Parts: sequence; C-alpha cells; structure tokens
Amino acid sequence: MKINLLGKTLEQLQQLCADEGLPKFTAKQICDWLYVKQVCDINLMTNLSLKARARLSEIAYIGRHAPINCQVSTDGTKKYLFECPSTVTSQTQYVESVFIPDGNRGTLCVSCQMGCKMGCKFCVTGQQGFHGSLSAAEILNQIFSIPEFHLLTNIVYMGMGEPMDNLDNVLCSTQVLTAPWGLAWSPHRITVSTVGIIPGLQRFLNESGCHVAVSLHNPFAQERLSIMPMQKAYPIADVVSLLRRYDWSGQRRISFEYTMFRGLNDDTRHAAELVRLLKGLYCRVNLIRFHSSPDTPYRTATPLSMERFRDYLNAHGITCTIRASRGEDIMAACGLLAGTKSEE
Ligand code: SF4
Repeated sequence: MKINLLGKTLEQLQQLCADEGLPKFTAKQICDWLYVKQVCDINLMTNLSLKARARLSEIAYIGRHAPINCQVSTDGTKKYLFECPSTVTSQTQYVESVFIPDGNRGTLCVSCQMGCKMGCKFCVTGQQGFHGSLSAAEILNQIFSIPEFHLLTNIVYMGMGEPMDNLDNVLCSTQVLTAPWGLAWSPHRITVSTVGIIPGLQRFLNESGCHVAVSLHNPFAQERLSIMPMQKAYPIADVVSLLRRYDWSGQRRISFEYTMFRGLNDDTRHAAELVRLLKGLYCRVNLIRFHSSPDTPYRTATPLSMERFRDYLNAHGITCTIRASRGEDIMAACGLLAGTKSEE
C-alpha cells in the first residue's frame, strides 16, 4: 500500500528518506512542498532529484481531496462535506468541517473522527455511533482543501469526534500546523476541545501549546452524568483539578463550553455551583445556545436566562460570554454535525 505523505512530520519523513536511501535534507524539502507550497503531485517537487521523485512516486502519494459538497448559510458560514473510508466498517463515511467568517477572522471547525464514542445525549454526532478515527492527513485535508484556506486565522477542533480519543493523529496535525517546517502558526491560533478524558488531556497539556476548551455543560456530577456518559469515568471535578496544576496566566487559554438547556442547567443554582467549581482558575466560560434538533427532548434556554447566567458569572469573577450561533440553518452549529451525505 502506498504511503500518504500528507500529515507526516519532519521526523517521519526523515525516517522515510533514510529507509529509501535518500539524503536527509530531502525530508525538509518535501515538508516545504507539502505544507508551504502545498503541491498535490510529487512530480511538482522540482528541487528533488529525478531519482528521488521517481522513487517517491512509486511508494507514496499526497492524499489531498476536495470536499464533495458545500452548503452556505444565510450568515456566510459554510459547511463542507468530506468523504472518508471508515476504519470500523467497510463503508464510506462522511465528515464535516465548518468555515465561519467573522470580519478579519476566518475560523475553521474541523472533525477528528467519523462519529463519536462519547455519546453525549444532546449531540447529533454522539447519537450516530462511532465509525473510526481520522488520520492526521484526513484532519489536515479538511484545512488544506477548502477554497478559504488563505483566509483562515484560527482552527478549532470542535467538529465531529473527541480529540483526546484520537490524540496521536490530532497532535500530529497540530504539529504540522505549528512547526517551523510546517505552517509555522502560533499554537494560540488553535483550540482543541474535549469532554475531559483525563489521560489524554494530561498528555495534550504537556505536549502541545494549543488552547484547550472543556465541554462542561453542568457543574453537578449526577446531572452532568445524565447528559454526558464520560462523567462516570472522568468526573468534571477531577478534570478541573488537573487543569489547576497548569499555569493559565500567560497566552495559553483554558475555556469551558456550557451549552444551555431550558430547565436543566440554566438557573442560579447551576451558576453558583459553576463559580464554586472554577473559583481561582484563570479561565473563561462560553455559553452556547442549544440548537434543537429533531427527536431531542432538550429545549433551548431563553435569551433572558442566558444573560442572567452570564451576568452572575461575571459578577462573581468568572469571565463569561454568550457565543453567537452560526450556521444553524444548514445544521452547522454546535452539536448538529451529522456527516450524512443525504444533506446534499
Ligand atoms: Fe462527541 Fe463532542 Fe458530540 Fe460529545 S459533544 S458526542 S464529545 S462530538
């Protein structure tokens, strides 16, 4: 089977060159063609010797492929659909990425898995089961293959899947984005979300400088467990204890995502407990309006309850904002990514 060069780190390419008897500096040249010049054909790597190009073409390819569909929201948000072979079943699966333009900012929300194992009750992706993890190449392809690549200022790993459940590939992709031999982006342009899988999160905190967003959604253990099964293995109190061991007073940011459901997590009791849980931790809380989907028993919190909740947190020393909803009309908003071809 041919090797996909996309997503390979400098170190991995150096190993490949050594295995093939190619000079070590060829690896750096390949990185430049892959990530800076972004060619899609090995024969276009013109500063490689003819012999090197011929050998590489025999054993490798560049796994770039364009999205197969794009839906455009009335607010300018675009949802792209990519084909991916499932690593669990033999069927082709689909993943989605969402481009969110906002003035000078261009944010891309990428997926890291086909479906998700976490089973959060309110999430369309979570209700679809798990069909495999994306390779680093498949994660990066979502970034490199959209027409808006040159408009991107930020990447958020908040699409389909749990990044800490596919950590090797997520770390490999963030390394390509931030390394000097890759895109050389600041890690502070990248945010990786998690429900709080503690071993993965700890490794991520140690090995990456990217921002982290923890999906919190309810500060009470039993109530959180009723909507997020992973609370049983990794209680949010333990996740917060881990985060307290790191310094968040510099440029690296920790934020907590809090989707608001009417009557479930939107009153002062919850706000007070959230303040107690996060007290003294340098962080911010983002309130997200729940986007109702067919067949869900959950309801959207009222704008007034969200404003009261935000004001309570801010008054008690926790920076809190209400995040604007984007792309709801094309099912591109938080928790709505389904990765189904039938949406075309
Ligand atoms: Fe998975 Fe995130 Fe959905 Fe939970 S909210 S099921 S972690 S995609």
